[in-house]
Amino acid sequence: MVTAAAFKPTNKDGTPITKHQEQDLELAIRYLSRNTDAAKLLEQAVKNGVTIQFSNTQNGFYRPDSNSIEWNSKFTIEVQNGSDRGYMSPAVVLLHEVAHSVDKQARIKYIFSTETCPSNEKTCQVTNDPNLRAMYTNREKFAVETERKIAQQLGEPIRLRYSDVLKDTTTTSTLDSSRQYYQNGQYHESEFKGHAKDSNGSIYTQKITNYDNDLPKKTPLKKETVEYDDGFKPISKNIVIYDHKQGIITTTVTDYPT
Ligand SMILES: [Zn+2]
Repeated sequence: MVTAAAFKPTNKDGTPITKHQEQDLELAIRYLSRNTDAAKLLEQAVKNGVTIQFSNTQNGFYRPDSNSIEWNSKFTIEVQNGSDRGYMSPAVVLLHEVAHSVDKQARIKYIFSTETCPSNEKTCQVTNDPNLRAMYTNREKFAVETERKIAQQLGEPIRLRYSDVLKDTTTTSTLDSSRQYYQNGQYHESEFKGHAKDSNGSIYTQKITNYDNDLPKKTPLKKETVEYDDGFKPISKNIVIYDHKQGIITTTVTDYPT
């Protein structure tokens, strides 16, 4: 597994990163490396000499000219896949940028648009296919397809297309993600805390803000939380059902099925 130091991380202004920032990067690498495809991509990026710069920008970037990734370890996006929605972990945002960095076709830019192609772009592909247009460019298509496959395997919410983004958001931890979805007439909400305990021994908690959906008031809300030990092994599954109509809350804590 690659180390955080292998990416020669600094702040965007060139100043050294804090211990906390280094921890965020180590956690993201350890978490993503549970997935063999992600581990390979991280190794390839290190081999290619990719560096990581921390920033507070509400976005992530890969810059081919400096072969560097700009990453905010608390930034992520809320994504949508049909009736499923949720936010990906900032670690998966890092993975998206890593995918850009290993993209062999990145130097050629195809824009999937019916609009006029900018004169500085080498190639444009004009299409009426809404799914292809929603991918925006060949670079984003590659990065989103890579991100989607790995995010799904990690149990995180996914987006099918580049533009399937509901909003930008900030998390309390690099590895927090959540999913909200309908199944069997019930509204489910899952939080994934796929990270180690902090120095106080407590598990981080994540509160979803700007909750603008009134569905939970109408149907029972099933909320699942999976907690992990320091080795990212799932240890318990907590299920809470809020029945707002009946005013009943049921909680079940079970050992994680092995
Ligand atoms: Zn991208």
